Amino acid sequence: MTDFPAFSFSTVAHIVSELGAAARLGEHIAQRFPDARRALLVTDPGFLKTGLVDAPAASLRAAGLAVEVYSKVVADPPEVVVLEAVGAARAFRADIVIGLGGGSSMDVAKLIAVLTDSEQPIEAIYGIGNVKGTRLPLVQIPTTAGTGSEVTNIAIVTTGATTKMGVVAPQLYADLALLDAELTLGLPPQVTAATGIDAMVHAIEAYTTRHKKNPLSDVLARKALGLLSANLITACEDGKNLAARQAMLLGAMLAGQAFSNAPVAAVHALAYPIGGIFHVPHGLSNSLVLPHVLRFNAPEAAGLYAELAEIVVPAASGSAEARAEALAVAMQQIATVTGIERTLQQVGIKETDLDRLADDAMLQTRLLGNNPRLVTREDARAIYASAL
Ligand SMILES: [Zn+2]
Repeated sequence: MTDFPAFSFSTVAHIVSELGAAARLGEHIAQRFPDARRALLVTDPGFLKTGLVDAPAASLRAAGLAVEVYSKVVADPPEVVVLEAVGAARAFRADIVIGLGGGSSMDVAKLIAVLTDSEQPIEAIYGIGNVKGTRLPLVQIPTTAGTGSEVTNIAIVTTGATTKMGVVAPQLYADLALLDAELTLGLPPQVTAATGIDAMVHAIEAYTTRHKKNPLSDVLARKALGLLSANLITACEDGKNLAARQAMLLGAMLAGQAFSNAPVAAVHALAYPIGGIFHVPHGLSNSLVLPHVLRFNAPEAAGLYAELAEIVVPAASGSAEARAEALAVAMQQIATVTGIERTLQQVGIKETDLDRLADDAMLQTRLLGNNPRLVTREDARAIYASAL
């Protein structure tokens, strides 16, 4: 008999994966939240400019809701933006919050839902499990296939020049996540590639995490990797391919469910300083260090990597070590084929920056603790050096 360790698993209660669902948002909301009257749509200026906010907003109005669009979300949202957004929700008297964007918009939507009717100041909710009470109804609609933020219970806020704080709480799980590939048709190939690789990293790191690895996350991670690896190149080369785009959204969501319950590790720990100091987008930061972390981890994790190689590179054969290496090579090839940057130098990082990167990476103790192999500062610097 197999001995299953105890585990718990949480996710968003309702998920709709349906082409065209965003244009029918009003129907979904009226059905699921019959008492909602005043919807705050949370997005960023770039997505607003695409015009893709118009149809969901019109459909909400057609369903009898008043709609306000808050569109000042920026990447790595600073605390002041979150507070301004909460102020907008209060002024509008929003009774439902709808995140419509990438990870940043969805993270801000989570915090608005939690803070609008709360007496807690924002600094009281940083950390794990510090949110008190209930929140406004919360719907998440991703417009990139990457972060999986629509099904995670974490929001990241930039609190200083490069410092970030996380809010982790069960209240951050949305009531409804809605996946509609029509919102992602305009994503440029390089954004599609980098965000898609980020989603693959979520699946890989969830599957190999030292803490909270569990059978549900394993199943989700494997399915996610299958969908993402089979569709990423197509979605990059043929951006209008709705089937590939919907498969990418589904894969990113499944990977989000996996890592929300089996947390990510050293790839993300080493990626965060690249984003924080050099303002490299999150997905690309992960992609730059990924193959090098995989090779560093192989002595401890080759068996699990080999299991994932069967999904990503079915033709791989030989020892577990050989198949683990095949996984690293396959991930590098995705970056090569899609034309995204592959070295730290290509994003402006120099040899003289590596010590600072290594120092910053070592501050990510929570993530490093999840890694299958112990990472020392010297290890971190050596990984950056191999990625240079
Ligand atoms: Zn990520």
